[in-house]
Amino acid sequence: MPKVLVVEDELTLLELLSQHLRAEGYTVLASANGEEALELARSQAPDVCVLDVMLPGLDGLSLCRIIRKESEVPIILLTARGAEIDRVIGLESGADDYVVKPFSLPELMARVRAALRRAPNRPSATLVAGNLSLDLVSRRVFVDGREVKLSHKEFELLATLMRNKGAVLSREFLITQVWGYDFEGDTRTVDVHVRWLREKIEKDPSNPTHLQTVRGVGYRID
Ligand code: CA
Repeated sequence: MPKVLVVEDELTLLELLSQHLRAEGYTVLASANGEEALELARSQAPDVCVLDVMLPGLDGLSLCRIIRKESEVPIILLTARGAEIDRVIGLESGADDYVVKPFSLPELMARVRAALRRAPNRPSATLVAGNLSLDLVSRRVFVDGREVKLSHKEFELLATLMRNKGAVLSREFLITQVWGYDFEGDTRTVDVHVRWLREKIEKDPSNPTHLQTVRGVGYRID
């Protein structure tokens, strides 16, 4: 079931949009402010974002630019009638589409469906953890927007940890996921690869902020 992030500070409109999206079968992540919406975009990996341009605090265009830097998720902007539309196009904020207020709900629903059709596999292709992003399709990894080169196993290990962000994964689990059930080496292989990985993705590999060791249990990415 696709997840839609809806950001709108007019609460009646937010509620209306949420209800209609739910009725169409989407999982709705609703927010009335930009900062919270950014957290949701990072932690919940929505399949499409619908952002109102005029928001207090972090506005819709800034939010759009930040989300676009970190992910390929389709973004639809809700804009007020008039000059704002030119601004939106001119600023190239990274949005895929925009809808001018007042709009009809069927029109917006059609745009959401179209955005999902155009990008069937893109949203889930990028995994993000803090300043770390990993593209499963192009198999590229970026730290603070700078690409780092990983070996095949390092990439698979990092992808497995990032797919399970926040969860502690045992060495045994990582072995079966990355090396396969028939791997005959021992679990120290994981420790060695974690060390190599930290040298590439951590600012200070001996004091890691992303790839944490959980004593007696395994590893976790935050
Ligand atoms: Ca607004």
